[in-house]
Amino acid sequence: MITTDLLIIGAGPTGLFSVFEAGLLKMKCHLIDALPQPGGQLTELYPKKPIFDIPGYPTVNAGELVDNLMEQIKQFQPGFTLGETAETINKLDDGTFEVTTNKGTVHHAKAVAIAGGLGTFEPRKPVLENIEKFEENGVEYFVKEPEHFRNKKIVIAGGGDSALDWAIFLSDVASDVTLIHRRNEFRGALDSVEKVQALKDLGKINLITPAEVVALKGDSHITGISIKSNDEIIDLETDFFIPLFGLTPKLGAIANWGLEIEKNAIKVNNALDYQTNIDGIYAIGDVNTYPGKLKLILCGFHEATMMCQSVYNRLNPGKKYVLKYTTVSGVDGFDGTRKEAEKAVVKKID
Ligand SMILES: Cc1cc2nc3c(=O)[nH]c(=O)nc-3n(C[C@H](O)[C@H](O)[C@H](O)COP(=O)(O)OP(=O)(O)OC[C@H]3O[C@@H](n4cnc5c(N)ncnc54)[C@H](O)[C@@H]3O)c2cc1C
Repeated sequence: MITTDLLIIGAGPTGLFSVFEAGLLKMKCHLIDALPQPGGQLTELYPKKPIFDIPGYPTVNAGELVDNLMEQIKQFQPGFTLGETAETINKLDDGTFEVTTNKGTVHHAKAVAIAGGLGTFEPRKPVLENIEKFEENGVEYFVKEPEHFRNKKIVIAGGGDSALDWAIFLSDVASDVTLIHRRNEFRGALDSVEKVQALKDLGKINLITPAEVVALKGDSHITGISIKSNDEIIDLETDFFIPLFGLTPKLGAIANWGLEIEKNAIKVNNALDYQTNIDGIYAIGDVNTYPGKLKLILCGFHEATMMCQSVYNRLNPGKKYVLKYTTVSGVDGFDGTRKEAEKAVVKKID
């Protein structure tokens, strides 16, 4: 059982920044995310795209913003349950919560913040007759652990950033990488397209376009695939087939937690603290809705801050909280580190 003060469901930018605000208030956080890595939409959908509306950053790449958020919260030592989906919630008699994931990990917390964005991302699956049979037996929709593919033959399908980036990365890990795409053109960052071209020229990536997979072969585990390219069928031996055709968001199990839902989003009290209709459960970031809601990163940061103040009051009834500026109070990490502005020198002038 994982125990924490504030359990955050969703490790997108809103969930990550909550850890910082909670840390300032001496509250410990644990995050659950269905994806294998933190960052939410920024990491999964547009890691290399520049964002122009983060205050203080004229421009910042989405992936860099996530790295910076991770650096900012490191001192508060958050726990992570990654690659697992929060499935059920149970409010206990003492007002605390138990949240269990699809893999059976149980989390106990004094308050819960749902920062689930657009929901969990479900992979878009290619329509192939026996694909379910090979899921977890050679068909992988995410690259969770690159080492899993060490010295293996892999076929990646897709034409976006994920397909390009993983083909590049795994060309140094797998024994044989084939990248196939139904068009000749790729929709990805220019430098990734150029890198794939260079690796193809070096013989490190086998590129087949325009092409699509038409059949999977094997008994208990995949052993090969058939590809159709220009009306020709090509048979390839492979240990893994990794279709990276993008992800569709789904609110999923959270929709059955008794929360008030409006248009696939959770209704909250935005006049106060972004609490839902269930006392002690908050919803922040893209996942919530209220009059005038804007699905923007900076709005998620604001909502996270207000939520943390409310959770502090909940956990410390009767204790008066005085707002302190970090420039004045500094930041005391749970890891023993302290950040503070340089003190003015007190020196007598003769
Ligand atoms: C292409 C694109 C460009 C964008 N550009 C900008 C921009 O320039 N400026 C801007 O401000 N915004 C931009 N946005 C919007 C911005 O990305 C979102 O507002 C932001 O990601 C919301 O953050 P979040 O933390 O609330 O949710 P998300 O980033 O969606 O993260 C939510 C996380 O919760 C997880 N999750 C959900 N349900 C569960 C569950 N049951 N169990 C476990 N985990 C769960 C998901 O896996 C996900 O990782 C853009 C979005 C896209 C798609």
